[in-house]
Amino acid sequence: MFCKVSRKNSRVYEKMKVKIIRKNIKHMYIENKGDYIEVRCNKYLSDEEIYKFLDKIKDKFQKIEKKELVFGKEGKITQKDYEKLKEIINFLINKYSKKMNLYPSKISFREKNTSWGSCTYKNHIIFNLKLVSLPVELIEYVVVHELAHIKEKNHSKKFWKIVEKYLPDYKDKIKKIRKIEKVIR
Ligand SMILES: [Zn+2]
Repeated sequence: MFCKVSRKNSRVYEKMKVKIIRKNIKHMYIENKGDYIEVRCNKYLSDEEIYKFLDKIKDKFQKIEKKELVFGKEGKITQKDYEKLKEIINFLINKYSKKMNLYPSKISFREKNTSWGSCTYKNHIIFNLKLVSLPVELIEYVVVHELAHIKEKNHSKKFWKIVEKYLPDYKDKIKKIRKIEKVIR
């Protein structure tokens, strides 16, 4: 069930959809799933009570580090999460390099504050470790975007044609990324 959060509740989650899953559980768990907030709670809790609670912690939501948001609970990003991210990216690079016939000279990972990824003139692709917070479908977009830069170094029409060929719904993915950036940056 998707519920729209009314404006009066919060500045932060007004742009995020809230998905409520009622279960036979005692506690409430709030987790940022990237493009929506998932609330798992006791089946007898009303929407109103949930939003009241979200409202109470909205300041915490604003201050919270994205990693805590993404993994919910007290979760911190662990070395294991980064290993998993690298595995996913290597898998996607292999998959799309073959499809697109575009191969990076080198791949590396850095913690950056700006872009999700970049591609140098020597076709060295650098991925932002913060990608660990994105859902796989959006990591996939970043991979295809950077691979396309091997052929087109700018964001010309030609460039977007390449991206579109391999990810026809790329515009949708860009929208999702922008939404997430608003919350975690
Ligand atoms: Zn670009």
